[in-house]
Amino acid sequence: MSEVFYQKFQSLFQREQIRIKEPLSKHTTFQIGGPADLFLLPEDEKQIAGAIKLCKEENVPFFILGKGSNLLVSDKGYQGVIIKLAENFSRIEIEGNKVTAQSGASLSDMAACIADSSLAGFEFASGIPGTLGGAVTMNAGAYGGEMKDIVTDATVLDVNGNIRFLEKDELRLGYRKSIIQEEHMVVLSASLHLEKGNKEEIKAAIAELTRKREEKQPLENPSAGSTFKRPEGYFAGKLIMDSDLRGYKVGNAQVSIKHCGFVVNNGGATALEVYTLIQDVIRIVYEKQGVRLEPEVRLLGEF
Ligand SMILES: Cc1cc2nc3c(=O)[nH]c(=O)nc-3n(C[C@H](O)[C@H](O)[C@H](O)COP(=O)(O)OP(=O)(O)OC[C@H]3O[C@@H](n4cnc5c(N)ncnc54)[C@H](O)[C@@H]3O)c2cc1C
Repeated sequence: MSEVFYQKFQSLFQREQIRIKEPLSKHTTFQIGGPADLFLLPEDEKQIAGAIKLCKEENVPFFILGKGSNLLVSDKGYQGVIIKLAENFSRIEIEGNKVTAQSGASLSDMAACIADSSLAGFEFASGIPGTLGGAVTMNAGAYGGEMKDIVTDATVLDVNGNIRFLEKDELRLGYRKSIIQEEHMVVLSASLHLEKGNKEEIKAAIAELTRKREEKQPLENPSAGSTFKRPEGYFAGKLIMDSDLRGYKVGNAQVSIKHCGFVVNNGGATALEVYTLIQDVIRIVYEKQGVRLEPEVRLLGEF
């Protein structure tokens, strides 16, 4: 990436919003990933749109990052521009039954504000360690709820750089998918409709779901949550366990002993180790159970 290219960003961003060769291991829950050529922390829509426009003009690839909680980034990093939409772009507004937030708002911060406003229906998302943008893009879900149930609309940037307002139906939210992924859009903000509830009951429900997560999930190790999508009619974790892969290791990557649906980093695992383990699990489960697992975790960079 040329010096001239870097300089173009300096007119759009403050010095502290631009990082060169930033290790992506600092920005993923797996704690894995090599450096990004350029790493940006935009604070408004103008900066986001401007950065994307520059990347397109210069033919440099870019990637929108949230909290990196569903990502496996290559050890070689990313040869392009990472645009992180998280704490730097995270305003939350609540008016009556409507919640609108910028896409970088964390689901846990939103859950706390929403509970304080006595609104019910967001409890399921409280323990998902991602951003609103990531959750809309992935149609994140847990414990019987999913974003599709509560999202009413989103404001997005389309591939041509136009800001568009999409109604829920236009978002085409399905199992861990949306139009955002299909058409390479960027979520700028989204709105939710929630019902009035009892604050104490909402907080108790969140506490109960947190307890369940802590009991069932290997939260003590870095991971990206459920590594595989749920195949229709099956549970990925059970298929993996029934294939005798509980605790299966490649280097420092391991199929969690606590929950076989999670691949964990035991400390110092490389992306290649996690990737190899994922491929091994897919092959062995297919040989033993005849079901082909598909990764839920998204890959970024060269593998
Ligand atoms: C311990 C643990 C538990 C988890 N539990 C659950 C669970 O119960 N349910 C569940 O569904 N998931 C779960 N996950 C996975 C993950 O948290 C979700 O998929 C989450 O929605 C990802 O959000 P993120 O901000 O981290 O996205 P990232 O991982 O940063 O990105 C994921 C994808 O979304 C895209 N993206 C992110 N932000 C935007 C944006 N603003 N505009 C356009 N595209 C964007 C990225 O380009 C990428 O393709 C878990 C993960 C962990 C580590």
